[in-house]
Amino acid sequence: MAVDASPRPIHSRPPEALPREVDVAVVGSGFGGLAAAVALRRAGRDFVVLERDDDVGGTWRDNSYPGCACDVPSHLYSFSFAPNPDWSRSFSPQPEILDYLRSVARRFGVLPRIRFGAEVLDASWDAASMRWRIETPRGSLTARVLVAGTGPLSEPSVPALPGLASFRGTAFHSAKWRHDHDLAGERVAVIGTGASAIQIVPQIQPEVSHLTVFQRTAPWVMRRRDRDFGTAERWAYRHIPGTQRLARSAIYWGRESWVLGFAKQTWLMGIGERMAHRLLRQQVPDPELRAKLTPRYRLGCKRVLLATDYYPALAQPNVDVVTDRIAEILPHAIATEASDGSRIEHPVDTIVFGTGFHVTDPPIADRVRDGNGRRLSELWSRDGMSALHGLTVAGFPNLFMLVGPNTGLGHSSIVLMIEAQVAHVMDALRQMDARGLTAIEPRPEVQSAYAARMQRELAGTVWNAGGCASWYLDDHGRNTTLWPTFTFAFRRELQRCDLRNYVVHRAVEAAGGHRDPVAAEALGWS
Ligand SMILES: Cc1cc2nc3c(=O)[nH]c(=O)nc-3n(C[C@H](O)[C@H](O)[C@H](O)COP(=O)(O)OP(=O)(O)OC[C@H]3O[C@@H](n4cnc5c(N)ncnc54)[C@H](O)[C@@H]3O)c2cc1C
Repeated sequence: MAVDASPRPIHSRPPEALPREVDVAVVGSGFGGLAAAVALRRAGRDFVVLERDDDVGGTWRDNSYPGCACDVPSHLYSFSFAPNPDWSRSFSPQPEILDYLRSVARRFGVLPRIRFGAEVLDASWDAASMRWRIETPRGSLTARVLVAGTGPLSEPSVPALPGLASFRGTAFHSAKWRHDHDLAGERVAVIGTGASAIQIVPQIQPEVSHLTVFQRTAPWVMRRRDRDFGTAERWAYRHIPGTQRLARSAIYWGRESWVLGFAKQTWLMGIGERMAHRLLRQQVPDPELRAKLTPRYRLGCKRVLLATDYYPALAQPNVDVVTDRIAEILPHAIATEASDGSRIEHPVDTIVFGTGFHVTDPPIADRVRDGNGRRLSELWSRDGMSALHGLTVAGFPNLFMLVGPNTGLGHSSIVLMIEAQVAHVMDALRQMDARGLTAIEPRPEVQSAYAARMQRELAGTVWNAGGCASWYLDDHGRNTTLWPTFTFAFRRELQRCDLRNYVVHRAVEAAGGHRDPVAAEALGWS
């Protein structure tokens, strides 16, 4: 099977040692970590980036499956400070996005600050020294500020299916594509029909002998308006001032208008539903298959998928769509059970899990501990994820989580949210310097009011009330992943860090000129 080559690591120099002390430690080097690194470098701050892998890119390094591409147009799904006139098409393929992120790391001079192979295993706040103590396989360090850019979709989730360990074929997750494994002529199962699976299926269908797609819920699929930019258009983006900004603006406002249907007037989604039904009718002539592929909930409740080649692939004679529950994995088959109890065994050589990521239980929360040793995950598993502006958490001073709770988007580019959060962090650091503050953490009551507001605003949206179960919702049924409204509202709200929302700490200099941790003050701000 023809697939893209695995990404090559970006660095070739011998690894540099970790600093023992740094002002700001950024974790991760995807869109989030790189945005933070660029801003910190521009501000002349002392920082290091800790990346567990051996390359930058995050999502776009890890997901190299056939057909992998963004589903927000590239002119918008890129940094505002680093427009790329060379995007080859509307929805760029993964290798181009990875190249882009590598070039940003190089061009903005942050590469020398990144330490690869430096997975953060533990980060605990030391209240006495008012610093984070960070453990990595490459040694430990301390930092005053911890910026976690560890990603909302960076930990693959594989369901605990009975018998999975007994499977004798090859099984892997879409985010860990086995490029060394040839699917040609194999009987392949794709489990899941989310954003990754629908990109994979059309690519592998012509190669495999048989493809079985296991679908729990039919996704809404809409036509993907993708096109090649061509040399003339790329030339214009590079040489005619304002052209690319105009293209980005048009996409931005087009996407923002979707919020009207998603969150304000959900009846508008009916218009999109009619368009999606038309696509299904045009592309799937078999009524039985069409019935299986017809969603029974409001458009938008789960992520809307854009694909013009997915339905035609499913309609091919070597493809089966199975909607019965998976009962068990056998050494050479997947057994399903229908609602009447009947059981079928589907023989397979390879299983591809397109089953998503740990979104509402991010692993970094297991590794971050407050001054009393309490893990953020303990707090969140009890109360659900919450953070002021999806960024800061009471009890965890100087922790800034990029793309934290309620910052995800159902309609537009997450890079917009990342840039707004990074601007907020930079403003917070500036104000802390100006006022001689060592640490800040949100007031608990402000954080809870913010979390309650998120739930209130999300209540009537299609994401919450659209009649589906999705990865946007946590175990308590709360939507702790999505931002409820327009992205410009988020940007406006985060423009300035209002220290009245924070408990602020100041380390007081002792008589001898040393910082006396015992004398650290916690100042109320009003
Ligand atoms: C296939 C796919 C397609 C997508 N398409 C879109 C799209 O079109 N539009 C959109 O808006 N979003 C899309 N997303 C969401 C995507 O995850 C975000 O857009 C964006 O890439 C997130 O960037 P990030 O830096 O926050 O996280 P990531 O890109 O996930 O980067 C996190 C980084 O942190 C590192 N890391 C994690 N834990 C640790 C640790 N403990 N120690 C050290 N390093 C650590 C990881 O190795 C990784 O490099 C897509 C996601 C997937 C999976």
